[in-house]
Amino acid sequence: MLVETGVDQCFIWVEGLDKRDTGQDTYEKITRFVKAVSDAGIDPHFYYADYFGTMLHHAGLSGVTYGTMWGEEGEETVEGTSGGGALSRYYVPQMKDFLKIPATVELQQLADAPMCDCRVCSNQFDSWIDLAEREEDDDENIQTPIKKHHLVTRYKQIREVEDQDLGETIDECREDFNEYVSPFNAANQISPSKKVDYLPIWVNAIENELN
Ligand SMILES: [Zn+2]
Repeated sequence: MLVETGVDQCFIWVEGLDKRDTGQDTYEKITRFVKAVSDAGIDPHFYYADYFGTMLHHAGLSGVTYGTMWGEEGEETVEGTSGGGALSRYYVPQMKDFLKIPATVELQQLADAPMCDCRVCSNQFDSWIDLAEREEDDDENIQTPIKKHHLVTRYKQIREVEDQDLGETIDECREDFNEYVSPFNAANQISPSKKVDYLPIWVNAIENELN
């Protein structure tokens, strides 16, 4: 953990955070640390784009730096293919994670979820099937709308968490997990090695440290 301390703010960068590997104890330590820094009158900022960083608002986090250099955007939006192209990945708000488009579509259908109502998706896509077909027809032109969907969705999530108290954020995250865990495990397009444990781990860490 590297901390650069200025007069009244600091920027926190935790190396190697990975929602597939990082355990609850690490998230608890980060939460405690952010809270201690904030309680000491220093504004902490966090270089971590994931939703966990968003939830740290409740520990006193001032801002999460997200963008092309940090986490989500750079590493997670595209996945290399054997043909040398890039597979598009869609940010699934309920999972707080990216999935490949066919996996997204299958999951959202299994969960019986309506099409995303963000301003980008509602302009571009009629349905989940439409999203899947558009990717098949033209996988290059799908990149821009799904990147914009990610940005507007994350912006909305950040504003929502800022307007909620801790209990509401925890309850919503638990509800999303409870609603999606079965469809997630049932979806054929999602690799069995891909796990969704990170959601309860984040919530438990935040709840243990802040409640
Ligand atoms: Zn959308």
